[in-house]
Amino acid sequence: MVERAVVVLGAGINGAALARELALSGVPVAVVDADDVACGATAWSTRLIHGGLRYLEYGEIGLVRESLAERDRLVRLAPHLVAPLPFYVPLRGRLGGLPAAAARLVGLEGLARRWRPARGRGTWTVGTGLALYDLLASDSRVPRHRTVRAGAAGLPRVDREAFAWGCIYSDAQLLYPERFTVELLVDARRAAAETGAACDVFTHCRAALLPGGVLRLTGAVDQAVVDLRPAALVNATGAWVDRTLAAVFSSGAPAATGRRLIGGTKGSHLLLRAPRLRAALAEHGVYAEAADGRPVFVLPFGPELVLVGTTDTPFTGDPATARADEAEIDYLLAAAARLFPDVAPGRDEVQQHYCGVRPLPAARALGGSPAAVTRRHMLVRHPEAPLPTWSIVGGKLTTCRSLAETAAKEVLAALGRPVLGSSRERPLPGACAGESRLAALRETEALVRRAEGWGVDPAAVAERMVTLFGRRAAAAAAGIASRPGGIRGSLLPRAAVEFCVREEWPRTLGDVIERRLMLAFDTELGRDTLEDVATVLADLGLVSHADVGREAEACAVHLAARYGRRLTRGLGNAAKEKP
Ligand SMILES: Cc1cc2nc3c(=O)[nH]c(=O)nc-3n(C[C@H](O)[C@H](O)[C@H](O)COP(=O)(O)OP(=O)(O)OC[C@H]3O[C@@H](n4cnc5c(N)ncnc54)[C@H](O)[C@@H]3O)c2cc1C
Repeated sequence: MVERAVVVLGAGINGAALARELALSGVPVAVVDADDVACGATAWSTRLIHGGLRYLEYGEIGLVRESLAERDRLVRLAPHLVAPLPFYVPLRGRLGGLPAAAARLVGLEGLARRWRPARGRGTWTVGTGLALYDLLASDSRVPRHRTVRAGAAGLPRVDREAFAWGCIYSDAQLLYPERFTVELLVDARRAAAETGAACDVFTHCRAALLPGGVLRLTGAVDQAVVDLRPAALVNATGAWVDRTLAAVFSSGAPAATGRRLIGGTKGSHLLLRAPRLRAALAEHGVYAEAADGRPVFVLPFGPELVLVGTTDTPFTGDPATARADEAEIDYLLAAAARLFPDVAPGRDEVQQHYCGVRPLPAARALGGSPAAVTRRHMLVRHPEAPLPTWSIVGGKLTTCRSLAETAAKEVLAALGRPVLGSSRERPLPGACAGESRLAALRETEALVRRAEGWGVDPAAVAERMVTLFGRRAAAAAAGIASRPGGIRGSLLPRAAVEFCVREEWPRTLGDVIERRLMLAFDTELGRDTLEDVATVLADLGLVSHADVGREAEACAVHLAARYGRRLTRGLGNAAKEKP
């Protein structure tokens, strides 16, 4: 029996941030995920760390101010993962949208939709919003917005005939929220070591509360059973919150509040391998309206790809089953084509898609529009539960740290424990920028250079490793001497797999491919890539050597079903399906 003051259910960005916050106060904590770290909405998001310009129209001034402050903080504390990005808003005219924006601001969503400007919002409406955005981020070092004529050099090459004007402003991109979440947990473990507490992470585990206050974890991979005795529970399972309450409390006293907490909407994204569209972005994010007035982002993704998102439709099924459907794929392609008709992406340029469910509060949307539901988070206490229990409802990637701070304060107060630490000025373990980034690159490159016969450019390997691991890159590459060679179809050493297994809790091939080494997004992902990673996992005892081929095939099938992803080389049958 393991005694833990707090058990956090859900290892998404919010659960991980909360575990870190609690560990900083010296509280023994365990994080339990039914699947893997960051395999929910955290991975299916638009990957922006932003104030949320759109939320201003809904009067969410406090949320936008908090988000802007957190944006700047995360750029500072996790610069290897969170990078500033300039945004361009293409506009057709000057005045459009003022009456609708005013109606929305005073809560008249129905009227706002009736008054939706046929030609979209104009420079005055967007400029007013951006002036307020600048004001709310008054301490920020990011450049202030400006209004420009379309077509100037260095701007995205959107259709100038249709969109004669534009506004430029700044926000930030978190390319890999999966890695950010892993690092939150790595730091939670470090914080626990510093404060003398403990921090355990259990993935691929089902949790059930037994009579007597024992939380029984049963492993999905190995059926192993671990019993925990928590003093408090926090349900941070995002869009699964209601399902988790039903599952965890099924054999003990019910924690049900009698009302549904989550009313999620699903959002889909496309990752395009469309070089001409990518060039037309001129390294800006484009934030625009689709033909139906919904917001749509067209973003650079890594060095080669383009991310287009997103849709917003109510979804009541199991969040794990949400998939981008044909209509959504067509809608997003049309939205990109409307902005960039000269380089309109084709269906054959869709490398993959993904889809997730937003953990929004169940309160009916104002006037029935999913976009109008608040993105603010709530901590809901369950007084009927047999032990102090809360659920986290809502939230954004951007506010994970501030959410964790508020939640930790409330949980610690209920347990009669003081807040002893804070994450406000604490960098993530991989944090590096400027000189420290150059040092990480040099150190990693030197390690790769010493490895014989791999035949890759050591500088390119170092760049990729630092993009993933920040200043931990050299540690992640250090095993290269005893495990030489690289993962085929990638710029990563095989030693990186071993590092992840030792330091970052993956249990399956999919965990490593999708949420540790981010190979699922690599343009060169092939069957040989999957086999190489599976072989290292076999060497480490996570799968059997006899099963390497089967594991790779199963992973290819999963990637095809989940993301419509085709492998570049060595196609398995299932992986040949069209995206
Ligand atoms: C389409 C879309 C776009 C978005 N874009 C942005 C954006 O650009 N910027 C931004 O700031 N925010 C964005 N968000 C919001 C943001 O992604 C989420 O609010 C955030 O990721 C929620 O994190 P979480 O940890 O609460 O939940 P999740 O990331 O969903 O994590 C929940 C975890 O709980 C686990 N789980 C499920 N059931 C159980 C159980 N019974 N026991 C234990 N574990 C369980 C799951 O496996 C999962 O790992 C977007 C969301 C979506 C869906």
